[in-house]
Amino acid sequence: MSHVFPRHTRQQPPVAVAGDGCYLVDASGKRYLDASGGAAVSCLGHSDSTVIDAIKTQVEHLAFAHTGFFTSEPAEKLADLLIANAPGRLDRVYLVSGGSEATEAAIKLARQYWVEKGEPQRAKLIARKQSYHGNTIGALSAGGNEWRRAQFGPLLLDMSHIDPCYEYRLRRDNESLEDYGLRAAQALEDEILRLGPETVMAFMAEPVVGATAGALAPAPGYFKRIREICDQYGVLLILDEVMCGMGRTGSLFACEQDGIAPDIACIAKGLGAGYQPIGAMLCTDEIYTAIEQGSGFFQHGHTYIGHPTAAACGLAVVGSILDRNLVARVRDQGDKLMDRLEDRFGQHPHVGDLRGRGLFRGIELVADRATKEPFDPSLGVAGKIKKASFEQGLICYPMSGTIDGRRGDHILLAPPFIIEDDQLDELTDKLSRAIAAVI
Ligand code: PMP
Repeated sequence: MSHVFPRHTRQQPPVAVAGDGCYLVDASGKRYLDASGGAAVSCLGHSDSTVIDAIKTQVEHLAFAHTGFFTSEPAEKLADLLIANAPGRLDRVYLVSGGSEATEAAIKLARQYWVEKGEPQRAKLIARKQSYHGNTIGALSAGGNEWRRAQFGPLLLDMSHIDPCYEYRLRRDNESLEDYGLRAAQALEDEILRLGPETVMAFMAEPVVGATAGALAPAPGYFKRIREICDQYGVLLILDEVMCGMGRTGSLFACEQDGIAPDIACIAKGLGAGYQPIGAMLCTDEIYTAIEQGSGFFQHGHTYIGHPTAAACGLAVVGSILDRNLVARVRDQGDKLMDRLEDRFGQHPHVGDLRGRGLFRGIELVADRATKEPFDPSLGVAGKIKKASFEQGLICYPMSGTIDGRRGDHILLAPPFIIEDDQLDELTDKLSRAIAAVI
């Protein structure tokens, strides 16, 4: 009997024993094409020698030094590299161990910023339905994923959730994409006014929504208007790029494609590419200075912040992404993936929408293409496709989201940036067989 507490207590997963480029191998020797990088993590595949060597070298010299006493060379270098390539006025990097830690830190930093600025009444956070910001209590409170929140309602903090920018479901007939983007953004201003602008500390959103909506990219102009509204009311803009950042959508930071920059950005997953647990929160100099000139201490922290080995890993990963020009490759391979998905599923009776950017793609499944009616949740379509894909030797990330109180099924694809054309064929072949086996 295994003493490991698995995700699904009634299923014993296979034992993974090796990683080989875009593939994972289990103890029986079965190979799985990793078409979702776990959950958009493994951007460099599973056997990148540059990253592995960087980690080995770091451990040999200095595995760990607590940030209560020291900074370290890899942490300093990683922060420099991120800031040199970050949009807007992002200027300081706070290294953590994962995505939820990054979003929790962002929420607390936003709050402390207003306290230090002498506006302690600013304590409200606005986020969006159809979003996921992590599983710790603060991050879960900010997220709008009803399924993940369900059992924990009494523990969650009171936060507002406006509609997401969800063109496929929420754009009206005869409404242009641009008009829809502006209308969707208007929900933020309406909510700020309803709450009272002087009480709102921040708005938090994923630029391209991942786990809860399947690579949902915003309408053109949406985030430009969101940025204007935040500026007008002095509300901080926190962008959660934990899943969509680090090149995944075809720019190092996803928000670059929307022509905006946040006050606080959160990254993780692709930052460590799965080789080490690492995340980061980036903030502007203005926010940092408010803390520096105020109490001089960010009232936060975990034991492993600024972990030297994790930082050395992040440095090697981001260095590789930039040196090997992998962001351009993401755009090329992403276009090819989308072409293959269009060919294969564009007319499929149960595929309502194909979407996303770069190598971050989503397929929304529907019972009826004409009415967009989702499948009955009791059918568990997403879960069955995950299982059927896995049997085929394909790892994809199907899940359910909720919109207007109804659950819907999506498949998220986020393969490694190094994926080759024949592996894109393998991906679409296997996925198509898995979908055919279920619906
Ligand atoms: N934000 C987003 C957008 C995510 O997709 C995730 C993870 N799926 C998180 C935060 C939480 O990250 P972690 O699981 O590393 O805590």
